Amino acid sequence: MKRALVTGGSGGIGAAICRRLAADGHHVIVHANRSRAKAEALVAEIVAAGGSGEAVAFDVSERAATAAALETLLEGGPIQIVVNNAGIHADAVFPGMSAEQWHSVIDVSLHGFFNVTQPLSLPMIRTRWGRIINISSVAAIAGNRGQVNYSAAKGALHAATKSLALEVASRGITVNAVAPGVIATEMSDAAFDTETIKKIVPMQRAGRPEEVADLVAFLASDQAGYISGQIISINGAMI
Ligand code: NAP
Repeated sequence: MKRALVTGGSGGIGAAICRRLAADGHHVIVHANRSRAKAEALVAEIVAAGGSGEAVAFDVSERAATAAALETLLEGGPIQIVVNNAGIHADAVFPGMSAEQWHSVIDVSLHGFFNVTQPLSLPMIRTRWGRIINISSVAAIAGNRGQVNYSAAKGALHAATKSLALEVASRGITVNAVAPGVIATEMSDAAFDTETIKKIVPMQRAGRPEEVADLVAFLASDQAGYISGQIISINGAMI
């Protein structure tokens, strides 16, 4: 049984990924920031379904708190699957974007990737098997008005994905990014109504978190061992 950490497991896409990885037989560490109770409820659901999991809560943008939490988790053994899914957006057209909006988004998506993945990398490398999956966004590929901060953070994640993939390729570790389009969660419900979705998504519907989870689960599997350094879109033909 491999141990898998899913950051933002308390959110819409993260919860679907946790359920799917647990169904695939992994021990899933369901991470939350503010919504620890949601992560605990999900772990209870996973265990009731015959799976294995535990909940953990920390702010991925806080380097010291993240390092301390990961050190405790690593006492239970290496974490071989890491899904960097925690993310926020703080949208504003660029002339009106505050420094706080700029930094907060980059702190969670980009610095969060470093804070979580770097301390886990050496123990993972020692096992000669690993999967690092970074959840980015179509906004990093196509751009999106009002999301210069978010696009910059997720685009940097794409570049980091490619470089890290090269570094760890000879150690049995793959590193990929999954770039969703509009997926039906609380994050997107606030931003897009049904008519807008019909206009911008050629398939005329939002994706389901479970569809993203299926892709992540495949990338986390043995079968995907030769796929690395890739940015894989899942967006209903948006681009
Ligand atoms: P969501 O439901 O809002 O969930 C966001 C998750 O991130 C929550 O679990 C939240 O934890 C966690 N989080 C936020 N700030 C954090 C911090 N400082 N430290 C640790 N965790 C933090 O969002 P979602 O729609 O599932 O999105 C998941 C990922 O997919 C994000 O990276 C997002 O950018 C990306 N994405 C989403 C869409 C979409 O249409 N939904 C499209 C493209 C990409 P708490 O709630 O516990 O605080």
